[in-house]
Amino acid sequence: MISVFSSEVLEIKNLEGNVKILKLFVPENFVFKAGQYVSISVPFHGKKLRRPYSIASPPGKNGFIELCIKIVDGLASNYVKTLSEGDEIELFGPLGKFVFEESSKNKDVVFVSAGTGVTPFVSMIPNLLENGFKNKIILIKGFRYEENILYDKEFSELRKKCSNFEFHDVLSRPKNPAYKNKGYVQDFLEKFVPKENCDIYICGLSPMINSVKEKSLSLGIPENRIFFEKYD
Ligand SMILES: Cc1cc2nc3c(=O)[nH]c(=O)nc-3n(C[C@H](O)[C@H](O)[C@H](O)COP(=O)(O)OP(=O)(O)OC[C@H]3O[C@@H](n4cnc5c(N)ncnc54)[C@H](O)[C@@H]3O)c2cc1C
Repeated sequence: MISVFSSEVLEIKNLEGNVKILKLFVPENFVFKAGQYVSISVPFHGKKLRRPYSIASPPGKNGFIELCIKIVDGLASNYVKTLSEGDEIELFGPLGKFVFEESSKNKDVVFVSAGTGVTPFVSMIPNLLENGFKNKIILIKGFRYEENILYDKEFSELRKKCSNFEFHDVLSRPKNPAYKNKGYVQDFLEKFVPKENCDIYICGLSPMINSVKEKSLSLGIPENRIFFEKYD
């Protein structure tokens, strides 16, 4: 059920590249599907504006969710910057239809993201694996520099436990000149995407999504098997 509720900021982690991970209280009856988002209320001149943020934790974590937010020069970003642990924040949700499709269940699945676009996959991939998904899961996540890589520990642990899961970090400006996956995520689809019967889920800003869609179509993935969430 969608509702508006008051949450408490339980923890804030500041990461490289102006990214913050917020751990937020949610009541017991807050039930969501992996891939969905919440909107946060942003106070602005006596009004409340809303901004959506994907939930970066799998369902079933009792009493909290996490958000992973890139701080840009904007309204919500400037508000999030001011938050401290213990502050109250108004949430609205769960919302969104970017969830794992029933019709993908018997296929290999590729997830592609850039930057904080990885966020819904931090919820979807562990959730799928916990629920016994047996086909291949391939995550291709793009960042600028090595230090911008998000959720390396979490996905590395998952890869150790689940032989049907693999992930690849693609860096557009790696500091290490010998870095093996240098470029943009769309440049690596041909290398990592299975040759047939796979669905693709993409999340991030429009230019990346459009490039990945175009490349996926050229690799023979039908348009109705390409699912995406645009952040802008
Ligand atoms: C369904 C949905 C889920 C989203 N989930 C997330 C999430 O999990 N994490 C997250 O960081 N953002 C997410 N976003 C984007 C987020 O809602 C805001 O648009 C973003 O935080 C900028 O808001 P703002 O008010 O700070 O900036 P605004 O005042 O709205 O705009 C400032 C500028 O920032 C640009 N911009 C927006 N997002 C980004 C970005 N990620 N990187 C660089 N530039 C950007 C805009 O194009 C605009 O030019 C999501 C968007 C949607 C629609």
